[in-house]
Amino acid sequence: MKRKARVYLDTAQHSMLKQIVDGDEVWYLLSQSQTVFKKISATLVAKYEQARRGEAPRGTGGKWEAVADICLSMYKVQEGSPKASLECDLNPFLLVCGKCKAFAHDGICKHVLAVTHEMMGALPIESRSSENNLKYMLKSIGKRRKKTSGRPQRVTPALVPSRHLENEDSSDEEEEAMRRIEDGEAW
Ligand SMILES: [Zn+2]
Repeated sequence: MKRKARVYLDTAQHSMLKQIVDGDEVWYLLSQSQTVFKKISATLVAKYEQARRGEAPRGTGGKWEAVADICLSMYKVQEGSPKASLECDLNPFLLVCGKCKAFAHDGICKHVLAVTHEMMGALPIESRSSENNLKYMLKSIGKRRKKTSGRPQRVTPALVPSRHLENEDSSDEEEEAMRRIEDGEAW
């Protein structure tokens, strides 16, 4: 789920669209399982909202298949009432993902994780929580795995350039990057 949420961040330009409706943020995310639409757009969102209202979206001529494609093209994420979402650290903004089976079942989904990452990243540094940073979540998972697969390191003979040390340099960099994300400096 986290990896798939990360895909949204990497492709945000064409997979995520934010609109402000009555002062509230409403996010639309292109469904990752559909293949009809390559990118999300305000036009597609308008058609999706028409379909949700029970109107025939423009340009479909009311044809069932075309309407179904639009209905299945995206997910809509927005702040809900406290009753509509489970309070948990992964969903601090109490977002709700409409018509999403995963959300209905688990109270969390890749769409909510991706939007939470974006919303949290838009806050001032001191208000950010790295717990909601998808890059951080995925990095720390990788880290833990690394530790458990500890194969004994072979001793490098003297005067031979040590690969072990090179690795250590890169993991220092990684750790520094991790620290910056942890502190909310980097997002
Ligand atoms: Zn969802």
